[in-house]
Amino acid sequence: MPEPAISSSRPRVLSGMRPTGKLHLGNYMGALANWVKLQDEYECYFFIADWHALTTDYADTSRLKLNTLDVALDWLAAGLDPERSTIFVQSHVPQHAELSLLLGMMTPLGWLERVPTYKEQQENLSTKDLTTYGFLGYPVLMASDILLYQTQCVPVGQDQQAHVELTREVARRFNSMYKTSVFPEPEALFTPSPKLTGTDGRKMSKSYGNAIGLTESPAAVAEKIYGMSTGGQRIRQSDPGDPDQCPVGDLHKVFSSVELTAETQKGCRAASLRCEFCKIDAARSVCAITDPIHSKRMHLESRIEETWEMLRDQSTRAATRAEQTMQLVRSILNLSHDLGAVKRHFSESAEDLKKAHDLSQVSSWWNLPQDQRAKELRDYWKSNLLPRGVQLTQESNRVFTSLDRELEEPFLSLKKKRVFVTTSRSADEAETWFFEIPAKSYEVWTLLCWNRSDYWLHDFLIPQKYYAQAFAQAKKSLKKDEKIPVLLRKNGGRFLLSIHGSEPVDITELLSNYGPLE
Ligand code: SF4
Repeated sequence: MPEPAISSSRPRVLSGMRPTGKLHLGNYMGALANWVKLQDEYECYFFIADWHALTTDYADTSRLKLNTLDVALDWLAAGLDPERSTIFVQSHVPQHAELSLLLGMMTPLGWLERVPTYKEQQENLSTKDLTTYGFLGYPVLMASDILLYQTQCVPVGQDQQAHVELTREVARRFNSMYKTSVFPEPEALFTPSPKLTGTDGRKMSKSYGNAIGLTESPAAVAEKIYGMSTGGQRIRQSDPGDPDQCPVGDLHKVFSSVELTAETQKGCRAASLRCEFCKIDAARSVCAITDPIHSKRMHLESRIEETWEMLRDQSTRAATRAEQTMQLVRSILNLSHDLGAVKRHFSESAEDLKKAHDLSQVSSWWNLPQDQRAKELRDYWKSNLLPRGVQLTQESNRVFTSLDRELEEPFLSLKKKRVFVTTSRSADEAETWFFEIPAKSYEVWTLLCWNRSDYWLHDFLIPQKYYAQAFAQAKKSLKKDEKIPVLLRKNGGRFLLSIHGSEPVDITELLSNYGPLE
Protein backbone atom coordinates (compact mmCIF):
# COMPACT_ATOMS: atom_id res chain seq x y z
CA MET A 1 0.00 0.00 0.00
CA PRO A 2 1.44 3.42 -0.87
CA GLU A 3 2.24 5.82 1.94
CA PRO A 4 -1.06 7.54 2.81
CA ALA A 5 0.46 10.50 4.58
CA ILE A 6 0.26 13.79 2.76
CA SER A 7 3.26 13.62 0.49
CA SER A 8 3.53 17.14 -0.85
CA SER A 9 4.86 19.87 1.40
CA ARG A 10 2.20 22.17 -0.04
CA PRO A 11 -1.31 22.11 1.45
CA ARG A 12 -3.79 20.17 -0.65
CA VAL A 13 -6.67 21.97 -2.32
CA LEU A 14 -9.66 20.51 -4.13
CA SER A 15 -12.42 22.15 -6.10
CA GLY A 16 -14.80 21.23 -8.87
CA MET A 17 -17.32 22.57 -11.35
CA ARG A 18 -20.42 21.04 -12.79
CA PRO A 19 -20.18 20.55 -16.54
CA THR A 20 -22.75 22.97 -17.89
CA GLY A 21 -20.93 23.65 -21.16
CA LYS A 22 -18.58 26.45 -22.13
CA LEU A 23 -17.68 28.78 -19.28
CA HIS A 24 -18.48 32.47 -19.15
CA LEU A 25 -16.67 35.45 -17.67
CA GLY A 26 -18.57 35.03 -14.39
CA ASN A 27 -17.25 31.46 -13.99
CA TYR A 28 -13.77 32.67 -14.81
CA MET A 29 -13.66 35.59 -12.41
CA GLY A 30 -15.65 33.75 -9.68
CA ALA A 31 -13.41 30.67 -9.55
CA LEU A 32 -11.20 29.68 -12.45
CA ALA A 33 -8.87 32.68 -12.46
CA ASN A 34 -8.22 32.04 -8.77
CA TRP A 35 -7.58 28.32 -9.34
CA VAL A 36 -4.96 29.18 -11.95
CA LYS A 37 -3.12 31.21 -9.29
CA LEU A 38 -3.48 28.53 -6.61
CA GLN A 39 -1.47 26.07 -8.69
CA ASP A 40 1.81 27.63 -7.58
CA GLU A 41 1.08 27.56 -3.87
CA TYR A 42 -0.95 24.41 -3.35
CA GLU A 43 -1.11 20.79 -4.38
CA CYS A 44 -4.25 21.15 -6.49
CA TYR A 45 -6.99 18.72 -7.49
CA PHE A 46 -9.64 20.09 -9.89
CA PHE A 47 -12.47 17.91 -11.06
CA ILE A 48 -15.38 18.10 -13.46
CA ALA A 49 -18.34 17.14 -11.32
CA ASP A 50 -20.42 15.18 -13.81
CA TRP A 51 -22.15 13.12 -11.11
CA HIS A 52 -23.16 16.36 -9.42
CA ALA A 53 -24.70 17.52 -12.70
CA LEU A 54 -26.95 14.48 -12.57
CA THR A 55 -28.37 15.47 -9.18
CA THR A 56 -30.40 18.20 -10.91
CA ASP A 57 -30.19 17.28 -14.62
CA TYR A 58 -30.78 13.56 -14.46
CA ALA A 59 -33.70 13.63 -16.89
CA ASP A 60 -31.74 14.84 -19.92
CA THR A 61 -28.13 13.74 -20.09
CA SER A 62 -27.76 14.20 -23.84
CA ARG A 63 -25.15 16.97 -23.54
CA LEU A 64 -23.28 15.67 -20.50
CA LYS A 65 -20.26 14.25 -22.30
CA LEU A 66 -19.93 17.24 -24.59
CA ASN A 67 -20.27 19.64 -21.68
CA THR A 68 -17.56 17.74 -19.81
CA LEU A 69 -15.22 18.18 -22.73
CA ASP A 70 -16.12 21.86 -23.04
CA VAL A 71 -15.25 22.50 -19.42
CA ALA A 72 -11.95 20.64 -19.75
CA LEU A 73 -11.01 22.64 -22.84
CA ASP A 74 -11.90 25.92 -21.17
CA TRP A 75 -9.90 25.02 -18.05
CA LEU A 76 -6.83 24.19 -20.08
CA ALA A 77 -7.26 27.27 -22.26
CA ALA A 78 -7.50 29.47 -19.16
CA GLY A 79 -4.27 28.11 -17.69
CA LEU A 80 -4.98 25.05 -15.55
CA ASP A 81 -1.92 22.97 -16.11
CA PRO A 82 -1.86 19.16 -15.87
CA GLU A 83 1.84 19.38 -15.04
CA ARG A 84 1.07 21.35 -11.89
CA SER A 85 -2.43 20.16 -10.97
CA THR A 86 -4.46 16.98 -11.14
CA ILE A 87 -7.38 17.65 -13.49
CA PHE A 88 -9.93 14.88 -13.72
CA VAL A 89 -13.52 13.79 -14.22
CA GLN A 90 -15.42 12.76 -11.12
CA SER A 91 -17.11 9.73 -12.68
CA HIS A 92 -13.74 8.37 -13.85
CA VAL A 93 -12.78 7.91 -10.19
CA PRO A 94 -15.32 5.45 -8.74
CA GLN A 95 -13.90 5.91 -5.25
CA HIS A 96 -15.98 9.14 -5.04
CA ALA A 97 -19.15 7.04 -5.24
CA GLU A 98 -17.84 4.41 -2.84
CA LEU A 99 -16.93 6.95 -0.16
CA SER A 100 -20.22 8.76 -0.67
CA LEU A 101 -22.09 5.53 -0.06
CA LEU A 102 -20.11 4.81 3.10
CA LEU A 103 -20.40 8.33 4.50
CA GLY A 104 -24.10 8.29 3.63
CA MET A 105 -24.52 5.45 6.12
CA MET A 106 -23.58 7.70 9.02
CA THR A 107 -24.81 11.14 7.92
CA PRO A 108 -28.00 12.14 9.75
CA LEU A 109 -30.87 13.11 7.48
CA GLY A 110 -31.43 16.34 9.40
CA TRP A 111 -27.96 17.61 8.44
CA LEU A 112 -28.87 17.33 4.75
CA GLU A 113 -32.30 18.92 5.09
CA ARG A 114 -30.70 21.88 6.83
CA VAL A 115 -28.27 22.69 3.97
CA PRO A 116 -29.60 26.09 2.74
CA THR A 117 -29.30 25.24 -0.98
CA TYR A 118 -31.56 22.20 -0.56
CA LYS A 119 -34.76 24.24 -0.14
CA GLU A 120 -33.54 27.17 -2.26
CA GLN A 121 -32.76 25.07 -5.30
CA GLN A 122 -36.02 23.15 -5.03
CA GLU A 123 -37.83 26.49 -5.19
CA ASN A 124 -35.61 28.03 -7.91
CA LEU A 125 -35.62 24.98 -10.15
CA SER A 126 -39.34 24.39 -9.82
CA THR A 127 -39.58 22.92 -13.34
CA LYS A 128 -37.49 19.94 -12.21
CA ASP A 129 -38.51 17.29 -9.74
CA LEU A 130 -35.84 17.54 -7.08
CA THR A 131 -37.59 15.44 -4.48
CA THR A 132 -35.02 12.75 -5.12
CA TYR A 133 -32.63 10.76 -2.98
CA GLY A 134 -29.71 11.94 -5.17
CA PHE A 135 -30.51 15.61 -4.75
CA LEU A 136 -30.94 15.37 -0.98
CA GLY A 137 -27.67 13.45 -0.75
CA TYR A 138 -25.51 15.65 -2.95
CA PRO A 139 -23.80 17.35 0.04
CA VAL A 140 -22.59 13.87 1.10
CA LEU A 141 -21.17 13.34 -2.38
CA MET A 142 -19.53 16.75 -2.09
CA ALA A 143 -18.09 15.87 1.33
CA SER A 144 -16.76 12.65 -0.17
CA ASP A 145 -15.13 14.53 -3.06
CA ILE A 146 -13.26 16.63 -0.51
CA LEU A 147 -12.41 13.99 2.09
CA LEU A 148 -11.32 11.40 -0.47
CA TYR A 149 -8.10 13.35 -1.05
CA GLN A 150 -7.66 14.25 2.63
CA THR A 151 -8.01 17.83 1.44
CA GLN A 152 -6.94 20.66 3.71
CA CYS A 153 -8.39 23.66 1.86
CA VAL A 154 -11.43 24.16 -0.33
CA PRO A 155 -11.66 27.35 -2.41
CA VAL A 156 -15.29 28.49 -2.23
CA GLY A 157 -17.54 31.51 -2.53
CA GLN A 158 -19.46 32.64 0.59
CA ASP A 159 -22.58 30.81 -0.63
CA GLN A 160 -20.82 27.44 -0.45
CA GLN A 161 -19.57 27.80 3.09
CA ALA A 162 -22.39 25.57 4.37
CA HIS A 163 -21.06 22.68 2.28
CA VAL A 164 -17.58 22.96 3.76
CA GLU A 165 -19.09 23.16 7.24
CA LEU A 166 -21.10 19.98 6.59
CA THR A 167 -17.95 18.28 5.30
CA ARG A 168 -16.17 19.18 8.51
CA GLU A 169 -19.04 17.73 10.54
CA VAL A 170 -19.01 14.52 8.53
CA ALA A 171 -15.22 14.21 8.97
CA ARG A 172 -15.52 14.82 12.71
CA ARG A 173 -18.31 12.27 13.08
CA PHE A 174 -16.42 9.62 11.15
CA ASN A 175 -13.15 10.19 13.03
CA SER A 176 -14.87 10.14 16.39
CA MET A 177 -17.16 7.19 15.65
CA TYR A 178 -14.35 4.96 14.38
CA LYS A 179 -11.62 6.30 16.67
CA THR A 180 -9.39 7.44 13.87
CA SER A 181 -7.91 10.60 12.43
CA VAL A 182 -8.12 9.64 8.80
CA PHE A 183 -9.97 12.75 7.63
CA PRO A 184 -8.55 16.22 8.24
CA GLU A 185 -11.25 18.85 8.70
CA PRO A 186 -10.94 21.06 5.61
CA GLU A 187 -10.82 24.84 5.81
CA ALA A 188 -12.75 27.11 3.43
CA LEU A 189 -10.45 29.24 1.30
CA PHE A 190 -12.66 32.15 0.36
CA THR A 191 -12.40 33.28 -3.25
CA PRO A 192 -12.93 36.96 -3.93
CA SER A 193 -15.74 37.05 -6.52
CA PRO A 194 -16.19 40.51 -8.03
CA LYS A 195 -19.64 41.66 -9.13
CA LEU A 196 -20.07 40.78 -12.79
CA THR A 197 -23.38 41.47 -14.43
CA GLY A 198 -24.53 40.05 -17.74
CA THR A 199 -25.26 42.04 -20.89
CA ASP A 200 -28.80 42.85 -19.68
CA GLY A 201 -27.78 43.99 -16.22
CA ARG A 202 -28.89 40.83 -14.38
CA LYS A 203 -26.45 38.35 -12.82
CA MET A 204 -24.38 36.75 -15.58
CA SER A 205 -25.86 33.33 -16.24
CA LYS A 206 -26.16 31.06 -19.23
CA SER A 207 -29.80 30.42 -18.43
CA TYR A 208 -30.60 34.17 -18.75
CA GLY A 209 -28.89 34.31 -22.16
CA ASN A 210 -26.85 37.32 -20.97
CA ALA A 211 -23.41 35.73 -20.64
CA ILE A 212 -20.15 36.60 -22.38
CA GLY A 213 -18.29 33.38 -23.10
CA LEU A 214 -14.75 33.03 -21.79
CA THR A 215 -13.51 31.63 -25.08
CA GLU A 216 -15.62 33.60 -27.52
CA SER A 217 -13.82 35.29 -30.41
CA PRO A 218 -12.76 38.91 -29.90
CA ALA A 219 -15.35 39.99 -32.48
CA ALA A 220 -18.14 38.16 -30.62
CA VAL A 221 -17.03 39.61 -27.27
CA ALA A 222 -16.91 43.14 -28.73
CA GLU A 223 -20.32 42.74 -30.31
CA LYS A 224 -21.88 41.60 -27.04
CA ILE A 225 -20.32 44.43 -25.08
CA TYR A 226 -21.31 46.95 -27.71
CA GLY A 227 -24.91 45.78 -27.36
CA MET A 228 -24.87 45.90 -23.57
CA SER A 229 -27.47 47.67 -21.49
CA THR A 230 -26.36 50.83 -19.70
CA GLY A 231 -28.88 50.27 -16.96
CA GLY A 232 -31.33 52.63 -18.73
CA GLN A 233 -28.96 55.56 -18.39
CA ARG A 234 -27.70 58.23 -20.79
CA ILE A 235 -30.49 57.92 -23.34
CA ARG A 236 -29.20 61.32 -24.44
CA GLN A 237 -25.43 61.29 -24.38
CA SER A 238 -25.49 64.76 -22.87
CA ASP A 239 -27.06 63.27 -19.70
CA PRO A 240 -24.54 62.45 -16.96
CA GLY A 241 -24.50 58.77 -15.89
CA ASP A 242 -23.60 56.65 -12.89
CA PRO A 243 -21.05 53.97 -13.84
CA ASP A 244 -21.84 52.10 -10.61
CA GLN A 245 -25.32 51.42 -11.98
CA CYS A 246 -24.11 50.28 -15.39
CA PRO A 247 -22.98 46.73 -16.37
CA VAL A 248 -20.30 48.26 -18.62
CA GLY A 249 -18.99 50.18 -15.60
CA ASP A 250 -18.79 46.81 -13.77
CA LEU A 251 -16.75 45.33 -16.60
CA HIS A 252 -14.28 48.20 -16.35
CA LYS A 253 -13.90 47.66 -12.60
CA VAL A 254 -13.03 44.02 -13.14
CA PHE A 255 -11.01 44.09 -16.36
CA SER A 256 -9.64 47.63 -16.96
CA SER A 257 -6.63 49.25 -15.36
CA VAL A 258 -7.20 51.49 -12.35
CA GLU A 259 -6.40 54.54 -14.49
CA LEU A 260 -8.83 53.65 -17.28
CA THR A 261 -11.56 52.80 -14.76
CA ALA A 262 -11.10 56.16 -13.04
CA GLU A 263 -11.12 58.01 -16.36
CA THR A 264 -14.28 56.18 -17.44
CA GLN A 265 -16.05 56.98 -14.20
CA LYS A 266 -15.17 60.63 -14.52
CA GLY A 267 -16.20 60.84 -18.18
CA CYS A 268 -19.49 59.04 -17.54
CA ARG A 269 -20.45 61.30 -14.62
CA ALA A 270 -19.51 64.43 -16.56
CA ALA A 271 -21.21 63.19 -19.76
CA SER A 272 -17.92 63.84 -21.59
CA LEU A 273 -17.47 60.17 -22.57
CA ARG A 274 -19.84 58.67 -25.09
CA CYS A 275 -21.18 55.23 -24.17
CA GLU A 276 -20.00 53.72 -27.47
CA PHE A 277 -16.38 54.72 -26.73
CA CYS A 278 -16.71 53.52 -23.15
CA LYS A 279 -17.90 50.16 -24.48
CA ILE A 280 -15.05 49.95 -26.99
CA ASP A 281 -12.59 50.52 -24.14
CA ALA A 282 -14.34 47.87 -22.04
CA ALA A 283 -14.25 45.39 -24.92
CA ARG A 284 -10.51 46.02 -25.32
CA SER A 285 -9.91 45.37 -21.64
CA VAL A 286 -11.95 42.16 -21.65
CA CYS A 287 -10.34 40.92 -24.85
CA ALA A 288 -6.86 41.50 -23.42
CA ILE A 289 -7.77 38.64 -21.02
CA THR A 290 -9.95 36.49 -23.26
CA ASP A 291 -7.99 36.70 -26.55
CA PRO A 292 -5.16 34.38 -25.48
CA ILE A 293 -7.71 32.05 -23.88
CA HIS A 294 -9.73 32.01 -27.09
CA SER A 295 -6.61 31.24 -29.19
CA LYS A 296 -5.55 28.44 -26.86
CA ARG A 297 -9.04 26.94 -26.98
CA MET A 298 -8.99 27.01 -30.81
CA HIS A 299 -5.67 25.17 -30.71
CA LEU A 300 -6.99 22.58 -28.24
CA GLU A 301 -10.15 22.05 -30.27
CA SER A 302 -7.99 20.88 -33.14
CA ARG A 303 -6.58 18.12 -30.89
CA ILE A 304 -9.57 16.87 -28.93
CA GLU A 305 -8.14 13.36 -28.55
CA GLU A 306 -5.19 14.75 -26.60
CA THR A 307 -7.54 16.37 -24.10
CA TRP A 308 -9.47 13.11 -23.59
CA GLU A 309 -6.15 11.33 -23.18
CA MET A 310 -5.05 13.90 -20.59
CA LEU A 311 -8.33 13.46 -18.67
CA ARG A 312 -7.92 9.70 -18.69
CA ASP A 313 -4.33 9.90 -17.41
CA GLN A 314 -5.12 12.49 -14.81
CA SER A 315 -8.18 10.59 -13.60
CA THR A 316 -5.96 7.55 -13.11
CA ARG A 317 -3.58 9.70 -11.09
CA ALA A 318 -6.49 10.98 -8.98
CA ALA A 319 -7.81 7.43 -8.53
CA THR A 320 -4.41 6.29 -7.26
CA ARG A 321 -4.46 8.97 -4.58
CA ALA A 322 -8.13 8.30 -3.81
CA GLU A 323 -7.44 4.59 -3.42
CA GLN A 324 -4.91 5.30 -0.66
CA THR A 325 -7.66 6.90 1.40
CA MET A 326 -10.17 4.18 0.53
CA GLN A 327 -7.81 1.44 1.69
CA LEU A 328 -7.69 3.14 5.07
CA VAL A 329 -11.45 3.70 5.15
CA ARG A 330 -12.26 0.11 4.20
CA SER A 331 -9.89 -1.14 6.81
CA ILE A 332 -11.33 1.17 9.49
CA LEU A 333 -14.84 -0.08 8.67
CA ASN A 334 -13.63 -3.68 8.70
CA LEU A 335 -14.67 -4.24 5.11
CA SER A 336 -12.94 -7.31 3.85
CA HIS A 337 -10.99 -6.03 0.84
CA ASP A 338 -7.73 -6.85 2.53
CA LEU A 339 -8.01 -10.62 2.84
CA GLY A 340 -5.12 -10.70 5.27
CA ALA A 341 -7.20 -8.70 7.70
CA VAL A 342 -9.92 -11.34 7.83
CA LYS A 343 -7.64 -14.33 7.87
CA ARG A 344 -8.57 -16.42 10.84
CA HIS A 345 -7.49 -19.82 11.94
CA PHE A 346 -10.55 -21.96 12.33
CA SER A 347 -8.71 -24.86 13.84
CA GLU A 348 -6.08 -24.32 16.45
CA SER A 349 -3.59 -26.82 15.20
CA ALA A 350 0.04 -26.02 15.86
CA GLU A 351 0.52 -25.59 12.12
CA ASP A 352 -2.27 -23.00 11.85
CA LEU A 353 -1.03 -21.11 14.84
CA LYS A 354 2.43 -21.00 13.39
CA LYS A 355 1.05 -19.63 10.12
CA ALA A 356 -0.83 -16.95 12.02
CA HIS A 357 2.46 -15.49 13.20
CA ASP A 358 3.56 -14.87 9.64
CA LEU A 359 2.53 -11.32 8.75
CA SER A 360 4.16 -11.20 5.35
CA GLN A 361 0.71 -11.30 3.72
CA VAL A 362 -0.20 -8.07 5.44
CA SER A 363 3.19 -6.44 5.20
CA SER A 364 1.48 -3.40 3.63
CA TRP A 365 0.24 -2.50 7.14
CA TRP A 366 3.73 -1.36 7.87
CA ASN A 367 3.07 1.64 5.63
CA LEU A 368 -0.02 2.70 7.57
CA PRO A 369 0.15 5.58 10.04
CA GLN A 370 1.22 4.40 13.49
CA ASP A 371 -2.26 4.49 15.05
CA GLN A 372 -3.88 2.63 12.18
CA ARG A 373 -1.10 0.06 12.09
CA ALA A 374 -1.49 -0.55 15.81
CA LYS A 375 -5.23 -1.05 15.44
CA GLU A 376 -4.81 -3.51 12.57
CA LEU A 377 -2.26 -5.50 14.51
CA ARG A 378 -4.32 -5.62 17.70
CA ASP A 379 -7.43 -6.70 15.77
CA TYR A 380 -5.39 -9.34 13.98
CA TRP A 381 -3.98 -10.60 17.23
CA LYS A 382 -7.43 -10.84 18.83
CA SER A 383 -8.82 -12.70 15.80
CA ASN A 384 -5.92 -15.00 15.09
CA LEU A 385 -3.79 -15.61 18.14
CA LEU A 386 -5.85 -15.05 21.24
CA PRO A 387 -6.95 -18.56 22.24
CA ARG A 388 -10.64 -19.42 22.14
CA GLY A 389 -12.17 -19.16 25.58
CA VAL A 390 -9.98 -16.21 26.55
CA GLN A 391 -12.10 -13.15 26.07
CA LEU A 392 -10.95 -9.62 26.47
CA THR A 393 -13.42 -6.79 26.84
CA GLN A 394 -12.56 -3.18 26.31
CA GLU A 395 -12.36 -1.35 29.58
CA SER A 396 -14.10 1.86 28.71
CA ASN A 397 -16.24 3.50 26.10
CA ARG A 398 -13.71 6.25 25.85
CA VAL A 399 -14.36 8.70 23.01
CA PHE A 400 -11.25 9.36 21.00
CA THR A 401 -10.50 12.66 19.40
CA SER A 402 -8.73 13.18 16.11
CA LEU A 403 -5.68 14.26 18.09
CA ASP A 404 -5.48 10.98 19.94
CA ARG A 405 -2.86 9.14 17.98
CA GLU A 406 -2.39 6.29 20.36
CA LEU A 407 -5.67 4.44 20.38
CA GLU A 408 -4.27 1.96 22.81
CA GLU A 409 -6.75 0.58 25.23
CA PRO A 410 -6.42 -1.59 28.29
CA PHE A 411 -8.63 -4.65 28.14
CA LEU A 412 -10.08 -6.73 30.93
CA SER A 413 -9.61 -10.47 30.83
CA LEU A 414 -12.24 -12.96 31.98
CA LYS A 415 -10.91 -12.90 35.53
CA LYS A 416 -10.96 -9.10 35.61
CA LYS A 417 -7.25 -8.73 35.10
CA ARG A 418 -6.29 -5.44 33.50
CA VAL A 419 -4.39 -6.34 30.36
CA PHE A 420 -2.57 -3.69 28.39
CA VAL A 421 -2.05 -4.57 24.75
CA THR A 422 0.49 -2.62 22.78
CA THR A 423 2.34 -2.90 19.52
CA SER A 424 5.94 -2.21 18.65
CA ARG A 425 6.88 1.13 17.19
CA SER A 426 9.31 1.79 14.37
CA ALA A 427 12.68 0.35 15.26
CA ASP A 428 14.61 -0.39 12.14
CA GLU A 429 17.22 -2.42 13.94
CA ALA A 430 16.63 -6.12 13.33
CA GLU A 431 15.22 -8.11 16.25
CA THR A 432 14.75 -5.05 18.41
CA TRP A 433 11.34 -3.69 19.34
CA PHE A 434 10.47 -0.50 21.11
CA PHE A 435 7.32 0.29 23.16
CA GLU A 436 5.97 3.12 25.27
CA ILE A 437 3.73 2.10 28.15
CA PRO A 438 1.61 4.44 30.28
CA ALA A 439 2.70 4.54 33.92
CA LYS A 440 -0.46 2.82 35.15
CA SER A 441 -1.12 -0.38 36.99
CA TYR A 442 -1.78 -3.21 34.60
CA GLU A 443 -1.65 -6.81 35.65
CA VAL A 444 -0.46 -8.14 32.31
CA TRP A 445 1.35 -6.49 29.45
CA THR A 446 0.81 -7.92 26.00
CA LEU A 447 3.63 -6.90 23.70
CA LEU A 448 3.07 -7.50 19.99
CA CYS A 449 6.35 -7.25 18.13
CA TRP A 450 7.08 -6.98 14.46
CA ASN A 451 9.24 -4.88 12.28
CA ARG A 452 10.16 -4.29 8.71
CA SER A 453 13.06 -6.69 8.63
CA ASP A 454 11.01 -9.54 10.01
CA TYR A 455 7.30 -9.83 9.29
CA TRP A 456 6.94 -12.38 12.06
CA LEU A 457 4.63 -11.57 14.94
CA HIS A 458 6.17 -12.33 18.35
CA ASP A 459 3.62 -12.15 21.16
CA PHE A 460 4.52 -11.93 24.81
CA LEU A 461 2.13 -12.01 27.75
CA ILE A 462 4.05 -10.58 30.68
CA PRO A 463 2.68 -10.79 34.23
CA GLN A 464 3.44 -8.03 36.70
CA LYS A 465 6.16 -9.89 38.61
CA TYR A 466 8.47 -9.60 35.60
CA TYR A 467 8.34 -5.85 35.41
CA ALA A 468 6.94 -4.48 38.69
CA GLN A 469 10.24 -3.49 40.29
CA ALA A 470 11.86 -1.87 37.23
CA PHE A 471 8.57 -0.22 36.38
CA ALA A 472 8.20 1.35 39.84
CA GLN A 473 11.80 2.57 39.61
CA ALA A 474 11.22 4.09 36.17
CA LYS A 475 8.06 5.88 37.30
CA LYS A 476 10.05 7.82 39.90
CA SER A 477 12.37 9.37 37.35
CA LEU A 478 9.72 10.32 34.78
CA LYS A 479 7.38 13.26 34.70
CA LYS A 480 3.64 12.91 35.29
CA ASP A 481 1.88 11.30 32.29
CA GLU A 482 5.20 10.52 30.65
CA LYS A 483 5.22 7.05 29.17
CA ILE A 484 7.77 4.45 30.15
CA PRO A 485 10.13 3.38 27.36
CA VAL A 486 10.49 -0.35 27.06
CA LEU A 487 12.94 -2.18 24.83
CA LEU A 488 12.81 -5.80 23.81
CA ARG A 489 15.82 -7.35 22.12
CA LYS A 490 16.57 -10.80 20.82
CA ASN A 491 20.04 -11.89 21.72
CA GLY A 492 21.50 -15.35 21.17
CA GLY A 493 18.03 -16.88 20.86
CA ARG A 494 16.82 -15.25 24.12
CA PHE A 495 14.35 -12.35 24.42
CA LEU A 496 15.48 -9.69 26.86
CA LEU A 497 13.21 -6.98 28.25
CA SER A 498 14.65 -3.72 29.46
CA ILE A 499 12.54 -1.03 31.15
CA HIS A 500 13.85 2.51 30.98
CA GLY A 501 17.47 1.37 31.02
CA SER A 502 17.04 -1.24 33.79
CA GLU A 503 18.88 -4.57 33.86
CA PRO A 504 17.40 -6.80 31.12
CA VAL A 505 15.01 -9.55 32.20
CA ASP A 506 14.81 -12.79 30.19
CA ILE A 507 11.21 -13.28 29.06
CA THR A 508 11.79 -16.01 26.47
CA GLU A 509 9.53 -18.42 28.35
CA LEU A 510 6.64 -15.97 27.94
CA LEU A 511 6.65 -16.09 24.14
CA SER A 512 3.16 -17.12 22.95
CA ASN A 513 2.41 -18.26 26.48
CA TYR A 514 -1.16 -17.27 27.27
CA GLY A 515 -1.12 -18.66 30.81
CA PRO A 516 -1.09 -15.16 32.41
CA LEU A 517 -4.51 -14.43 30.92
CA GLU A 518 -6.24 -17.43 32.44
S1 SF4 B 1 -20.37 55.88 -20.17
FE1 SF4 B 1 -19.91 53.75 -19.86
S2 SF4 B 1 -20.36 53.41 -17.72
FE2 SF4 B 1 -21.35 55.35 -18.27
S3 SF4 B 1 -23.41 54.72 -18.79
FE3 SF4 B 1 -22.23 54.77 -20.68
S4 SF4 B 1 -21.55 52.70 -20.92
FE4 SF4 B 1 -22.19 52.89 -18.85
